[in-house]
Amino acid sequence: MKSFYNYTLNELEDLVTSIGQKSAHARTLFTQVYKKQIDSFENIENISLELKEYLIKNISLELPKVVKEQVSTDQKTVKFLVQMNDGRTVETVLVPFEKKYTICISSQVGCAMKCSFCFTGTQGLTRHLDSTEILAQYVLAFKWLKKNMPEKSAPPNIVFMGQGEPLHNIEQVKKCLGILFTTEGLHLGPRQVTLSTAGYLPGLRDFNDLMGINLALSFHSPFDEQRNELIPLNKAYPLSEIIKQLKTINLRKRQFLTFEYLIIKDMNHSLEHIERIKELLTGLPVIFNLIPFNEFPGSPYKRPLMKDVEWFKEQLSESGFHTMVRTTKGDDILAACGQLNTK
Ligand code: SAH
Repeated sequence: MKSFYNYTLNELEDLVTSIGQKSAHARTLFTQVYKKQIDSFENIENISLELKEYLIKNISLELPKVVKEQVSTDQKTVKFLVQMNDGRTVETVLVPFEKKYTICISSQVGCAMKCSFCFTGTQGLTRHLDSTEILAQYVLAFKWLKKNMPEKSAPPNIVFMGQGEPLHNIEQVKKCLGILFTTEGLHLGPRQVTLSTAGYLPGLRDFNDLMGINLALSFHSPFDEQRNELIPLNKAYPLSEIIKQLKTINLRKRQFLTFEYLIIKDMNHSLEHIERIKELLTGLPVIFNLIPFNEFPGSPYKRPLMKDVEWFKEQLSESGFHTMVRTTKGDDILAACGQLNTK
């Protein structure tokens, strides 16, 4: 059976008309499944009986199974272990952010990038997720939220910061975004979505196809030699080329590029780093997001002292870069940045 979540609105209209029904039914279906979260075709209203019977027989509304659900001790971060049809699992995290929730989504089972500081990197890439599997993570986390915290019912924002390198799987990410942005469906806007990349240049070249979503780059060091060690991908696609490519990205007024900067104890937060950052990035519309390194079982680096993080933040701010520190959420359930691993 094909999954309902596989269809764009256009594809669904084609399906509906191919069985002799009015295409308007496709919009009705989108609204009731995505906006109203009706989860069986029996309960869909205002479609023909014939269409209903066809859907019940041929299309599935089933979501992947959540095989484990963990809530952090502060009760705010929720991590789901989601199992796909072939038994492979990924993690999806609900992260509180200001008054809303953000859903942190995985784009691959594992990851091919092998960043030395990342727990997901240690498991290697098993396979890409398809658009249905990516979208389903959003749908199931949103459903959980509506059920468990009905006061937070607005569609959450999305960050592609779970397992995987989303630009390595850009076609499926793009299809998923098309469905999320559909007016009759969830109707998310590009401002609600941020995609984080380790700097996968082939995907970055097509970034403008992603309909104006926000980009975050895992920067982590302004020195190629050090960045090579942290992100082996940098050997193939060094900083100069990435920065050149970033300049071709279409930004709206007041839209910025986020540079994520992992702070590792005694490694990448010196005055030389600040000087080099100024040389490389002055004039670019960049916001820094500092992430104190999160340790994981067997991790080769240490968490920095908060006073060092604060110092680095001040230096960047004084150099003219808007800078925030990402507070760590959910590390007690290994749900924080870089702690996702499903091996
Ligand atoms: N592959 C994408 C998406 C992962 S996003 C990327 O690399 O950007 C996850 C963010 O968490 C990235 O900025 C990543 O560099 C960061 N991260 C990875 N491991 C981490 C760790 N152990 N502690 C803190 N942040 C980490």
